[in-house]
Amino acid sequence: MTPSRRMKEILFGTQVRRDLWWIALFCLFAFFVLGKFDLFEQINDFSRNHEDWDLDETFTVLMLLPFAFIFFIIRRHQELRQERDNTHNILKTVEALIIALNPEGRITQINRKASELLGYREDELIGQDWFATCLPRSIDVEQVRKVIKKSLAGDLAGSKYNENWVRTRSGEERLIAWHNSIIRDTNDKIIGTLSAGEDITERNQAEEALKISEKRYRAIFETSQDIISINRVDDGLYVDVNQAFLDTQGYSRDEVIGRTAEELNVWADPADRQRFVELLQRDGRCSNIEAQFRRKDGELIWWLVSASVIDLDGTPCNISVRRDITERKKDEEKINYLAYFDQLTGLPNRSLLQDRLKQAMASSQRSGCYGALLLLDLDYFKNLNDTLGHDMGDLLLIQVAQRLTGCLRDEDTVSRFGGDEFVVVLVNLSESLSETADLIELIGGKISAAFIPPFDLKEISYRISPSIGASVYLGQNNEADTLMKQADLAMYKAKETGRNTLRFFDPDMAQDVLKRAVLENNLREAVQKQQFILHYQAQISGHRVIGVEALLRWQHPEHGLVSPVEFISALEETGLILAVGQWVLEVACRQLAAWAEQPELSHLTVSVNISARQLNDEGFVDQVLMELERSGAKPDRLKLELTESLLVNNIEEIIIKMSALKAEGVGFSLDDFGTGYSSLAYLKRLPLDQLKIDGSFVSDILTDPNDAAIARMIVVLADSLGMAVIAEGVETEAQREALAQQGCHAYQGYLFGRPVPVDEFESFLKRG
Ligand code: C2E
Ligand code: MG
Ligand code: MG
Repeated sequence: MTPSRRMKEILFGTQVRRDLWWIALFCLFAFFVLGKFDLFEQINDFSRNHEDWDLDETFTVLMLLPFAFIFFIIRRHQELRQERDNTHNILKTVEALIIALNPEGRITQINRKASELLGYREDELIGQDWFATCLPRSIDVEQVRKVIKKSLAGDLAGSKYNENWVRTRSGEERLIAWHNSIIRDTNDKIIGTLSAGEDITERNQAEEALKISEKRYRAIFETSQDIISINRVDDGLYVDVNQAFLDTQGYSRDEVIGRTAEELNVWADPADRQRFVELLQRDGRCSNIEAQFRRKDGELIWWLVSASVIDLDGTPCNISVRRDITERKKDEEKINYLAYFDQLTGLPNRSLLQDRLKQAMASSQRSGCYGALLLLDLDYFKNLNDTLGHDMGDLLLIQVAQRLTGCLRDEDTVSRFGGDEFVVVLVNLSESLSETADLIELIGGKISAAFIPPFDLKEISYRISPSIGASVYLGQNNEADTLMKQADLAMYKAKETGRNTLRFFDPDMAQDVLKRAVLENNLREAVQKQQFILHYQAQISGHRVIGVEALLRWQHPEHGLVSPVEFISALEETGLILAVGQWVLEVACRQLAAWAEQPELSHLTVSVNISARQLNDEGFVDQVLMELERSGAKPDRLKLELTESLLVNNIEEIIIKMSALKAEGVGFSLDDFGTGYSSLAYLKRLPLDQLKIDGSFVSDILTDPNDAAIARMIVVLADSLGMAVIAEGVETEAQREALAQQGCHAYQGYLFGRPVPVDEFESFLKRG
């Protein structure tokens, strides 16, 4: 008998029943045979006939046979019971839930594990209808019964797996995975089913949770705004990518899956990819790598990449999560631009220049080549802002930036430092200092040349010149800051010495600049304390004093009288010239009015020097007219001296202002004529009365034939324009004679009298 058959017998007790039947049949048969053939009687007879035969013995033997049989049966049953107990014990201890049902669905056997799970005692369950007792109420029991019956009838395969819910005594429902088998008796008749089950409720819940979380992850994967891709580590093939990947990269799923990033050429810089791969190999993960990627259409996008190696069904894969940071990058670039570039001109700003300068100095350290720092300041830029407005000022700065960039090498840096200050870093000039100086002169010349063509400010053509200070560096022998200061000093020096020029730094300059600062301070004080006075210098025509030039003097408490040559440019620079200029006009007008009272002086004119800052001032015309009116001076006795340099810009506006004053009778003289470059075209349009031959031509008129020719030319020009002409700086009779020969008959100079205080001038006149 196979163990399974034996097991079935134990479980279902068919052997026991069969054995009992056999015993009963045997007893019946024995009594029948004994009765039918009167066997006991015959035996008695036989024993009586045969004296030697022991009847008792025979009987005993006969009677022993059924007992032997019964003993055999009992023994067998004991064995079976033992076996059954063993089996029960096994069933008790096995972890599986074991339930045997008969074909009607009644429980014939159940192990402890199963009964415990169901919440009953084993004996309470034996004989119970499994389906009615243990299936959840929601299940249509009859329907299930039908199905089972049908499958039993259809002789379903020996074992079948299924999962179903059972209901415990307390009403709790548990999910059980069953392995079912059909039990047959020796005649192959189905006598029930045997099921071994396992409580998989928790596992199922976990699996369900896993499924839900998988679903959730899938949803996150698919809908994430971040770009997610999964590549196999071995061959780099894309295994999966999300929609964001496809959208941002511009590919379809088919174009991506099964190909590599290299094939798609998505990394803009192969070095970035290399770094990414190395990090993954080394650490198994990497985070926040910024790299540029290429879309299918070639457009570049910035991604922030994080990745880690994971195991997907036994295959090592890289899962990369990327975020599109193109906008952030653009913002960063913008911020970077704002931080390092000048908004107006697009040139590097102060911060970036300082970086570049340090780099340049480090590179000079290595190469042994000199470099230079040029500081450029536009001359009279303030005038432009004041007169034409800041928009025009900005327009000019933009063009200056372009011109500067245009005349330098790519490796040099031009930057704007704010206002009208530009700084140039020249690199790799030469190993020799003198050659370096020559090169700087050359570049300075190129820069100056770039400023010659007028700037185009919305149909106004505007001239401006730069003053340039240069300092030289070799390696890191100086701090960048020191170098800047040196260039700054040199630039100030350039301003002081007439502007539109380049000056190299030399150590004495620091002293000069200090002096300049002191001077500017003292001048402020001088204005407050009214330390200025006017001197008058006679102007002669023929043998008569026809007028005077009012010349400013500063009566310094310590240094005595200071010449305007020392301080006029500082007054202009600081803007103090507006206040001082007005004071000069006021005093000059008062003087005119006073002289008008004295017949012998009433014919005198007073010439007053006017600076660019004054003329460009909006209220200039009104100011002059007001002073005339306040003092009661005759306008036609007042002469305003302008210089050529003052007439390069805003010519239309200047003509308007001059004409307004001219209409009131005020006269104009063009001072220092011949030293600047006047255009004949506008000279004709300016309402001038007089040209003043500069003293420099006069001083050399006897020795330099060119100067004589220039003097002659000025006389002719003045004649042809209908203007008078006067020569200044006439010191000797010979000079006067020479000028007279060229046709100039009006003079000013030491020959006739130095500039003196008004009393001295008056007594000089009275002396005749
Ligand atoms: P400027 O208008 O050309 O004045 C003539 C300068 O030549 C004066 O110098 C005068 O003293 C000097 N000078 C006169 N005769 C002779 C001579 O025979 N030989 C030599 N070597 N020099 C002579 P100063 O007074 O030192 O003035 C210098 C400049 O300062 C003036 O040149 C003028 O541009 C400016 N300035 C003077 N006063 C004023 C003022 O009130 N306002 C403005 N804006 N500028 C002024
Ligand atoms: Mg003058
Ligand atoms: Mg002059």
